[in-house]
Amino acid sequence: GPVDDSEEAARAYMERCRSWQKVLSDNGWAGITWPKAFGGRGDSAAVSVIFGQEASKYDATAGFIGAVQSLVGPPIMRHGTPEQQQRFLPGLLDGSVNWCQLFSEPGAGSDLAALSTRAVRDGDAFIVNGQKVWNTQAQFADWGILVTRTDPDAPKHKGVTFFLVDMATPGIEVRPLVQSTGQAHFNEVFFNDVIIPVENVVGEINEGWAVTRTVLSSEAGMIGSGAGGSNGFEGVLGLARKYGRTEDPEIRLRLADAYARERMLQLLGLRMQSFILNGRGNPPDPSVMKNFMVQAAEKRYDLALELEGPDGMLDKADAPQNGFWQSVHMGQFGSRIGGGTTEVHRNMIAERALGLPRDVSPDKDLPWKEILKA
Ligand SMILES: Cc1cc2nc3c(=O)[nH]c(=O)nc-3n(C[C@H](O)[C@H](O)[C@H](O)COP(=O)(O)OP(=O)(O)OC[C@H]3O[C@@H](n4cnc5c(N)ncnc54)[C@H](O)[C@@H]3O)c2cc1C
Repeated sequence: GPVDDSEEAARAYMERCRSWQKVLSDNGWAGITWPKAFGGRGDSAAVSVIFGQEASKYDATAGFIGAVQSLVGPPIMRHGTPEQQQRFLPGLLDGSVNWCQLFSEPGAGSDLAALSTRAVRDGDAFIVNGQKVWNTQAQFADWGILVTRTDPDAPKHKGVTFFLVDMATPGIEVRPLVQSTGQAHFNEVFFNDVIIPVENVVGEINEGWAVTRTVLSSEAGMIGSGAGGSNGFEGVLGLARKYGRTEDPEIRLRLADAYARERMLQLLGLRMQSFILNGRGNPPDPSVMKNFMVQAAEKRYDLALELEGPDGMLDKADAPQNGFWQSVHMGQFGSRIGGGTTEVHRNMIAERALGLPRDVSPDKDLPWKEILKA
């Protein structure tokens, strides 16, 4: 059927993901690399890679649950108390509890440490006020990981505290944001005098940046090579055949370009996997892979819509393939931003791979409250 934007469709997809996660969990395949003490399988990254290769041959996915586990699991395993680990890790592993990430704000994204959602201590609790934004799946979440400002007198990377927050707490309002694709992938989340018990702080009070970094580094590790599939080269070649354009010299050049980029991504992916499996070799830089992947997608989707010609201007059920190419074309912009923007990854390539001087950060040592804010 046509690409379905309704909330019911999103909810139904989520339920399918949860039931597959339950199957994995019941059979001992949830948390392959997680330590056994935390309910995982205690296996190596190599086993995880092999399991992923085999699983990709079947039409079964835990969808966003896998992503959420790699965001929420590491901070609780590394920085959480034994009570937090016992309370939260099982529901995360079997998919029975939905989580969201409450990090970005209207004034804090790439520069997350500029965040200004305030948490003020009041006895055995903190009272939280502020706003988060772009929070994936927050409209379906039971719990969230939240970063807040607890000491405005300290520099921006200090004075940050990391919480686990029950999304049913009074004072939390979740407003879905409808994108150009018609779907509501993410939300605005407002905090109005939200009370969070001190026992839900992860790590030390005012030292939440270390916990946040644990999340950000596992987020960077999730960026895959994303080569092939129905939106890959074969799909575009199919369109060129359908519209009788395979003899057009310019189209042939662009098809060859799309093919070459897809092969390069596959080979980079294999190089990464062989590094993980054999522990030797030279892994490709993840920032290079991410930027190359989104660039290849942009060129491929532009070509697809051009091949459709006037049909390319239609949408959803009116368009060829129920608007499949229109949908992936509009979706590409999010992937240029999520997991670090293209520009931020270019900065990382400059610093890490090319050894150029670090990006200037004049407000790094200023008290947070003295930093000019947008
Ligand atoms: C699909 C998707 C899912 C997301 N899910 C979540 C989620 O679940 N939870 C959550 O908290 N957030 C989420 N986000 C938000 C995401 O983390 C931010 O959008 C991202 O960090 C960028 O921040 P920003 O949008 O504020 O843009 P900004 O950081 O304001 O960037 C604006 C522009 O400035 C450029 N720029 C910024 N800094 C530099 C620099 N130092 N040098 C050069 N250029 C620079 C950027 O590249 C960009 O072009 C999601 C975003 C997307 C697209």
